[in-house]
Order: sequence, then structure tokens, then C-alpha cells
Amino acid sequence: MLNIAIDGPAGAGKSTVAKAVAKDLGLIYLDTGAMYRATAYYTLQQGIDVCDEEAVKKMLDGMSMNIIYEDGAQQIYVNGLNTTPYLREHYMSKAASDISALPPVRYKMVDLQREFAKTHDVVLDGRDIGTFVLPDANCKFFMTATPEERATRRYKELVEKGQSVDYDTLLKDIMQRDYNDSHREVAPLKQAEDAEYLDTTNMSIEDVVAHIKEVVHIKTKPQHTATASSEVKVGDKRAAKMKKYYKEQKSFAFYRFLSVILRPIQAILWPIKVVNKQNALDVEGNAIYTCNHYSKVDSFIPCFKLFKREAHILAKYELFKVPIAGWFLHKMGAIPVRRGEADIDAVKAVLKVLKDGKKLLIFPEGTRNKLGTQDMAELKTGTARFAIRTKSPIVPMLYYSAPKLFRRNWLYIGEPFTLEQFYGARTPEQMHEATEVLRQKMDETRRLCNEYVHGLKNKWKKGVK
Ligand code: C5P
Repeated sequence: MLNIAIDGPAGAGKSTVAKAVAKDLGLIYLDTGAMYRATAYYTLQQGIDVCDEEAVKKMLDGMSMNIIYEDGAQQIYVNGLNTTPYLREHYMSKAASDISALPPVRYKMVDLQREFAKTHDVVLDGRDIGTFVLPDANCKFFMTATPEERATRRYKELVEKGQSVDYDTLLKDIMQRDYNDSHREVAPLKQAEDAEYLDTTNMSIEDVVAHIKEVVHIKTKPQHTATASSEVKVGDKRAAKMKKYYKEQKSFAFYRFLSVILRPIQAILWPIKVVNKQNALDVEGNAIYTCNHYSKVDSFIPCFKLFKREAHILAKYELFKVPIAGWFLHKMGAIPVRRGEADIDAVKAVLKVLKDGKKLLIFPEGTRNKLGTQDMAELKTGTARFAIRTKSPIVPMLYYSAPKLFRRNWLYIGEPFTLEQFYGARTPEQMHEATEVLRQKMDETRRLCNEYVHGLKNKWKKGVK
């Protein structure tokens, strides 16, 4: 059976993510929190105090719990009564947290969960799945976010449902539940050693879901193919290497040294005029530079011209394997990205660079324009996501055409702008809208770039006449 464990504190987004992963992978989702909630609900219905261990223990002897799925939605029946409609009331969270600390309750729930996992391919979310319920689960994740972020999410969710809530109370409740869950005697909340830690404070649900699916895909291959165990090793090795490529890079002294040597060579081979250079240099703190992309050399030109101290660019992972170039990319602080995948390491590295107040060069098309035309392909939504999450201004830049050897080339820098109107946005639709704004800015920069270069060429022509 395939068992995926997603643990973490209250409000980290586990259930939303677990549901989506289960749906996409055709698995069953088991909400173990709801089992504790159902037990608490039934206990309260019997007039028993959820903290009275003796009374609860007696009650458990006569309590049966059945989990069934109606139209794909989990329903929990306790002694024949469907408790599901009552479990999400705010007061039930505290009652569930209290009752879940009682050892007899935990043992009963854990038995039920293990039995369920034995007979179903399932995604379980909870607090102790990876550490206690299913220590041998195929994939384990520990999802968390800051208490403030989790309280904000809960607040928005409840407000959307029309409930009136107080943010400070929610934050206090979340912190209290964190404390209860991580300090109880039996199976406290903690990360399993072999679980992947996912801090979702700055991640969207879609990113987390895509990442978990990818990990599950890699980790479960061995069960079906003979070569798969080596694939896991390759995956692990690759992850370790990716970390090395970016995270171990502490000093950029060598990049500075080498770029001093390489800059004049570039200037001779690909002479380039940077138009409105000041637009790029004036931006203080973190910023994203977006540019059209023709060839390998056009990623180095802006670095030499604009980022003299350190140059973070998002470059495809395969490039890091190229001798010398790969090594130089590493030295300059480039971030490797696996294209066509939700590459969580790359996302984290980008967010770190921008949050540290640094500059990042991105090719928003996600690929090179091999035809060499002026038109840009459809832009990926990644650039807008990064700009929104880190509140980074964007500096639009355009090569007039693919950089040509020994010929005059132009790099036109447009007016910096922000996607401020989208700050706080998270949905895919909003990301598409924000990307459309970026597209318009790139189009506008193209118009200005052409105007500039054509004007110049006309002048030259007149001069010749
Ligand atoms: O996840 P949810 O908020 O619905 O869980 C309700 C409560 O049940 C939690 O606060 C936690 O104390 C408890 N719980 C647990 N172990 C689990 C799932 C939930 O102790 N596996």
C-alpha cells in the first residue's frame, strides 16, 4: 500500500494540500484530526469532560468509529451518528486538542489509522503520522509556517465563511495548540527524522502540492521498476548537488576577479550599448531584472554590465553540468532550476536572494528564443510570483536582437515598476493577471527599444548620405 504522511502544526495548510495530492494521485485522503474532533464531539454530547481521562476511557469501550466516503468526502460516524457537520466549529479545535492528549484516545485512534493505512492507498495528515502511526510510510513531510501566517490564513478562511473572528484570539489559540500538541506525553508533534521539512510561509498551495507529487513520483518508482532504486539515488544525489550549487556559495570574490578579466573580452566579442543603464542601477535593494533570451552569452552580458558584485541568475540545471561554464555559474551565484518541474530548491533559493535584498536576473519565457525573432513567447508565471511574494520591483530589459559577434548590440532598460496591486495575491488566476501586466511592460519596452535603435539607424543612414 502507498502511505503518504503529512504532519505539522495547526493551520499549516496540511488538509488542503493532502486533499489535492490525494485527488491528483487517485488516493484516499484521511483527515486524522477529524477523528480526534469526532471523538471530542461525541464525548461532549455524552456530557463528559474531554480532560477527564478515567471517564473518557470508560466511554471509549462503548464507542465505535466508522470512516466512510460519500461523494469522495470523508464522513465520520460515531456509534451510528454522522458527526462530520459539527467538527469544524471553532470550539471543537480546543476540545480535540485536549482530548487528543489522553493516551487511551490516542491508542484507539492510532489503531484505527494503522488498520486503514494497511488496506488503502492513502494520504494522511496529522501530528504524529510519520513519527508514531506509520513510521514506515513511503513519503513523509513536515509542513509548517510561522504562527502569524497560520493565524492570518485561518482568519481569512473564517472571514470568507462569514464568521466574525478576532485575529489575536486566533493567534493565541494556534500558539496554545502548538504548545499542547508538542508537549503531550504520547506521540507529541515533532518532525520525523526522515520527513522533508516544508516551510510554507512564502509558498503557494500549488507549489507545495506540485513538490509533494514530484517527491512521491520519485520515491515510489522503485516499487514498480527494476532500475528504480538507482533513480532514487540519482534524485537524492541531484538534490544534494543542487544544494551545493547554490547554498554553499558564500563569497563572490572570485566572480569579481574573473569578471574583471572577462568583461573586456566580452566587450570585444559582443560590443553592446546598454541604453538607460541608470534605470537598472538606480534600484536599491532587491529587484528582479527580466530579459528576453537568445543565447548563453546574453545571460552573462547583464551580469558584467550591471551586477558587478554578485550576479544571481536563474539558469537551467543542465548548464551547471557543462565544464567551466557550470563552475563559473556556481561562483557567480547563479541558481539552478529544473525546468518543467516545481523545483522547490530553486524557489527557496530565489526567495532567499530577494529577501536578502539582492538582485536576480530572470528570463520570464523560461527558455531561449531559438528563432531569434523579436517576439517573446508566453511568459511563465514564476517571475510574477517571486515579485509579489518578495515585493521586489521589476526592471524590464530587452535585447534589440540576438547578440551578434563583433557587431554593435543593444540592451534597452525600461522603467522599473512593481506589482504592488497584487501583493498578498495567491491564486493562479491572480498570478496570470500579474503576468499579463509584466507582459505589457515587456511589450512597452520592446516598442521603446525599437524606437531608439531605429531612430539611431536612421540618423546613421542620413549621416552616410
Ligand atoms: O488537524 P486538526 O486541527 O483538525 O486537528 C485537531 C486536533 O487533533 C489537533 O489540534 C491535535 O491536537 C489533534 N491531532 C492529533 N494527532 C493527529 C491529528 C490531530 O493529536 N494525528
